[in-house]
Amino acid sequence: MDPPAADGPQSDSPGRVVLVTGASRGIGRGIAASLHAAGYRVAGIHRSGDVPEGVLGVPCDITDPEQVETAFVTIEERLGPVEILVANAGITRDNLLMRMSDDEWSAVIDTNLTGTFRLIKRATRTMMRKRFGRIVLVGSVVGLLGSPGQVNYAASKAGLVGIARSVARELGGRGITCNVVAPGFIETDMTSVLPEETVKGYQQRIPAGRLGSVADISAAVAYLAGDGAGYVNGAVIPVDGGLGMGH
Ligand code: NDP
Repeated sequence: MDPPAADGPQSDSPGRVVLVTGASRGIGRGIAASLHAAGYRVAGIHRSGDVPEGVLGVPCDITDPEQVETAFVTIEERLGPVEILVANAGITRDNLLMRMSDDEWSAVIDTNLTGTFRLIKRATRTMMRKRFGRIVLVGSVVGLLGSPGQVNYAASKAGLVGIARSVARELGGRGITCNVVAPGFIETDMTSVLPEETVKGYQQRIPAGRLGSVADISAAVAYLAGDGAGYVNGAVIPVDGGLGMGH
């Protein structure tokens, strides 16, 4: 039997409370701005800098459990419980395996993986009570493809897939979805430091023939955050111009 036809465009519940981490720069800033423009009430965690106009800026380092708790309390007081979490904050500390220090390993795992675990754990507390939640993790094409010099980063991003699928299985029955958006090569501060040769090399391997933009990622996140994506759970959505296809 065909599913019932939707009545016009899906209502994406403007007014829902969204938390975007790493909202000061790059992809996170773009996501925060576009969800605000779409009518969501958006809080943005930032360490440095500021957040887009109209977004509630909440200073917080996600590697510090106390700061994360304080940030959630602030958001709950100002906007209400977080209904949509976009865990975007992430770092790289690239080095070849043989030269990678324990500190380089730990910094990336602490931020990208443990920090994200901490945010999800806190956010789902109130999501479970509401029996509604959308969690979008910003992973990377590298999590499944691998990348020389990025053992720490690839491990952290592959780990997010395991987190998302486990959360989907644990909490899917409570109206909570947890998915990963896996960007390819996106033009931001993170990629601006790469040598020109590396960038050219990537460009040649991307079927789309171009690097990605922040708007490419924001569009996928907006879809997963919306009410229309309620039946998408534990998925990894590549937004990489085809760079990683086959996984
Ligand atoms: P940027 O380096 O431009 O921005 C990273 C953001 O994360 C900044 O706002 C930064 O804050 C924040 N952040 C980092 N560590 C912490 C922390 N401990 N606590 C709070 N905030 C923190 O990165 P991008 O925008 O390029 O990347 C965003 C996400 O997308 C990352 O998870 C990245 O791994 C992923 N990604 C990016 C790709 C790309 O090509 N750009 C490709 C694939 C995935 P601050 O300003 O204080 O440093």
